[in-house]
Parts: sequence; structure tokens; C-alpha cells
Amino acid sequence: MDMIDPFGRTISYLRVSVTDRCDFRCTYCMAEDMTFLPKKDLLSLEELDRLCTVFIEKGVKKLRLTGGEPLVRKNIMHLVRQLSRHLESGALEELTLTTNGSQLSRFAAELADCGVKRINVSLDTLDAEKFHQITRWGNLGKVMEGIDAAQKAGLKIKLNAVALRDFNDAEIPELMRWAHGRGMDLTLIETMPMGEIEVDRTDQYLPLSLLRASLERQFTLSDIPYKTGGPARYVHVAETGGRLGFITPMTHNFCESCNRVRLTCTGTLYMCLGQEDAADLRAPLRASEGNELLDAAIDEAIGRKPKGHDFIIDRRTSRPSVSRHMSVTGG
Ligand code: SAM
Repeated sequence: MDMIDPFGRTISYLRVSVTDRCDFRCTYCMAEDMTFLPKKDLLSLEELDRLCTVFIEKGVKKLRLTGGEPLVRKNIMHLVRQLSRHLESGALEELTLTTNGSQLSRFAAELADCGVKRINVSLDTLDAEKFHQITRWGNLGKVMEGIDAAQKAGLKIKLNAVALRDFNDAEIPELMRWAHGRGMDLTLIETMPMGEIEVDRTDQYLPLSLLRASLERQFTLSDIPYKTGGPARYVHVAETGGRLGFITPMTHNFCESCNRVRLTCTGTLYMCLGQEDAADLRAPLRASEGNELLDAAIDEAIGRKPKGHDFIIDRRTSRPSVSRHMSVTGG
């Protein structure tokens, strides 16, 4: 039975945050001094596999591992290997991940061997100094090695960059030329008000409508119907021959075609990235060896998937729209 929400949207895409921990501290994402979940609260890799498998049986066709940084979860490749059986059986169409790239040089070949074809790498700047400034702990050279290794292993890469006012807006043309020159799509993301951080989001927030208008002064952008199952809208860039995506949770609510739900590493299911409502799947998972309770809990949760979110960033709204950081539910 497919999972269909109250607004008639079929849920076919599951994003799983396998850890809330990360080896970076991007200023728009986390506070520097984060308190992470105690290890004992985490689902084991076997439990994550069981949960994902139930979702696949219920119609999930695309599964994305995220975090935190998914590649810092201990033995993560064991989970990837396990999940790859659903690619082999044809039940799952795509297994992918979103990563900051720091560990890719270690894992790229094995990911490819497990049937992963495409990955998203988050990269906000090509300037090593600025990279260190925005990620606080990151090393650009390491990420570049990771990107090289991934391409060498045959993985297709999409770069994701969060557009940040007066930080990387002027650099986007260069980032795009570089990405397209290496055969990678680039997607720009508006910063979302999730979790308390030290920086003022009003200063960082840059509506992509403005950035697009400025890019259109230099480049010829044409809308194309290309879709990857996510919320990005794409244009073709005549000058580079590449694709540029826009993810606009703030200026253009992307909710009407939402096909996604998000599972955290403690088994909490969020039916919307931008709402607090969630369903606990860990209790029904652990309550019995059969999946009946879990199945019922998932159906009940999908039955309350909200129509959308209402993110606000302005000077009058100083509180984040949702209290959890992006690192809890992942991108
Ligand atoms: N560590 C992995 C990575 O860096 O891609 C996966 C998790 S990270 C939370 C996923 C994506 O969310 C990254 O592209 C990151 O830049 C983005 N992100 C984090 N906080 C955000 C925010 N407040 N608004 C918009 N995007 C955010």
C-alpha cells in the first residue's frame, strides 16, 4: 500500500539522518558548542536498516542518508551495504547521500561499489580561508580530495551551496563555472531559520530571487523541467552548458509537491522539515519483532503530514521557526 498523505501526495522519498554529529560546525547550521544526543539514544545500524526496509516496503523509492555528517557514523558502510540489497532487488530506485565531503576520499569507491550513483556534496566557497571561516573546523583541501575520489569512482556529484549574503553571493558565478567545468550540477539553497546559532540569520539571509536576478545579468538562464525527486527547480546555463538548481524554502514555498519524510537517528519521524510535529517510531520498532505496530505508527504519522511550513526570517522574528538544528533532521 502506497503512503498517501491528506493532501493526496504520495510519499516515495525518505531521508535518514544517521547521526546528529558532524566534523564541521557551519555557522548557519550549528552553534560551535553543540550538545549531541547520547550514544545510547541512537538506533543501531540494524534498527535503521529495519526501519528503512519497512519504508521501502511501503513505497519509498528513493532513500538519502544524511546527518550530521553521515560518513562520521561508525560503520556507516555496513548500513549502506545492507541497504544496497534493495537496489539489487529493484524495490529501491536510488540510494544516495548528502555529505560535506570530508570523508569521501576514504569511502567513495565503496559507495560506488554499493550501487550509489549520485551524491550531494555541500560546498559554500572555493576560498580555503573562507571555507575555514564558515565551517569553523573544515579543511577545503580534504573536501577537494574527496570530490576527486568520488568522481574517480564514477559517482555523479551535485554541489549544494547555501547562499549567504556578503559571504558567497559574489562568488557564485565562479563556483558555478568551476562546478559545471567539472561536470557537476550546482544547487543554491536559501538559509532556513532552524535552531539557535550564534550568528544573526537576518544578516545571512539572501533571497534567491535576488541572486537569480543578479546572475541573469551575466548568464543566460532558461527554466528546464529537469527533476531529481527533490525540491530544486533547475535552469540551464547557456554560457557554461551546465545545470543550476534553486531550492527556495523561503521565497517560494516548495511544499505543494512534497514527497518526503525525514527520520532521525533516534527513530523520530518528521513529516515536514519546517514543523515541530513528529512521530516516535523507536517505541513501536522495539516493542515487537514483527512490523505491524511500526506499520500502523507510520500510517498514522503520514495521516498528519502538514500541508507545508512557514519559515520567517525578519528583524521582528528573532526566534528560529523550528527549535531543532538542521543537523538533527539533515538536508
Ligand atoms: N553534513 C552533511 C552536509 O554537509 O551535506 C549533511 C547534513 S547538512 C545539515 C545538509 C545540508 O543542509 C548542507 O548542505 C547544509 O549546508 C545545509 N544546511 C544546514 N543548515 C541550514 C540552514 N539553516 N538553512 C539551509 N541549509 C542548511
